[in-house]
Amino acid sequence: MDTKSFRHQSFAQVVLFGAGRRAELPALVAQLGFERCLVLSTPEQRRDAEALAELLGDVAVGVLAEAAMHTPVEVSDAAAAHARDVNADSTIGIGGGSTIGLGKAIALRTALPQVAVPTTYAGSECTPIIGETANGEKKTQRNPVVVPAAIVYDPELTLTLPAKSSGMSGMNAFAHAVEALYSPERSPLLAELASEGIRALARALPRVVDAPGDPDARADALYGAWLCGTCLATSAMALHHKVCHVLGGLFNLPHAETHALVLPYVVEFNKPATAEAMERLARALGADDPVSAVFELARAVGAPRSLAELGMPEDGIEPAVDLILADRYWNPRPLERPEIERLVQAMFDGAPD
Ligand code: NAD
Repeated sequence: MDTKSFRHQSFAQVVLFGAGRRAELPALVAQLGFERCLVLSTPEQRRDAEALAELLGDVAVGVLAEAAMHTPVEVSDAAAAHARDVNADSTIGIGGGSTIGLGKAIALRTALPQVAVPTTYAGSECTPIIGETANGEKKTQRNPVVVPAAIVYDPELTLTLPAKSSGMSGMNAFAHAVEALYSPERSPLLAELASEGIRALARALPRVVDAPGDPDARADALYGAWLCGTCLATSAMALHHKVCHVLGGLFNLPHAETHALVLPYVVEFNKPATAEAMERLARALGADDPVSAVFELARAVGAPRSLAELGMPEDGIEPAVDLILADRYWNPRPLERPEIERLVQAMFDGAPD
């Protein structure tokens, strides 16, 4: 790691972490100077949002339980109009990446500040990234206006996340730290954040999947998720994210499951070009071979075995390869067609037992 010359970007956020610490939200909101907070959630998490609004008392100006997967612009336009109608001066999103995405989309339209109360491991709360869907197409941008002013991580709120979703969401987070390790923008601080995030998630996720009600495992997983989200905030992603984006977009595959399946294959692909990152990854995982360790972790958390199992058609391989090679992405190992064809075919067929 070059400690003599590097670039590192971070975003100012207050982070409260700990079981039960959502009780401190009213004080936090007062410190931030918010007086009229609109509470956001998905329809499925309306009760959590209502409980939070109750906790905030008069400071809450209502609950908008309309967040939807992939942040559709129609939903965001209507939500921003609603925030203006109720004269909100801030939003508080309780939920996963979809709800936090709605808070960000409102911020993009109104510049309203927000607090995020994450209940999955996706990590969106740490980042200036927002992806929005219009006419079936998802476009992603980075804009500091969407970074939440504060995050409250309360692991008790993750106890209800089902075991399978927890494992997949955790692998999504894990992938951010792995790609940060070989990012062209890596700094000594980022490398440490990524290594610690990898360590925390690797020890916590199999425990969470086996015993979703274990509060210590939940706290450890959420701690790892914070670190991995911070990696995503400050570094460019590479082939793994490109592959997931292409496959998800072309075949409408589930976001987190696709991440969990693809990651070990991309680690294997990039290994020859990323000696230092692989050494760090192996050390963080306590393994000799980082590739088999990531395959084992994916298996332990119940990742799908193949793209075929996820529902991708075999005649989709060539279009997927075309798109992965189109508008080239930065990647530590150059992308050549025959190798990318082999990569997608291997993921389609899946690893033998
Ligand atoms: P999600 O927010 O879509 O949640 C999935 C479902 O799980 C929802 O119904 C939600 O209400 C429910 N849920 C969430 N937490 C729960 C809990 N603790 N208990 C019970 N149910 C719960 O899922 P996600 O994986 O967190 O987010 C995925 C979205 O986030 C994708 O659109 C992805 O692109 C985006 N994302 C964005 C960034 C970013 O930086 N912008 C980063 C990661 C993911």
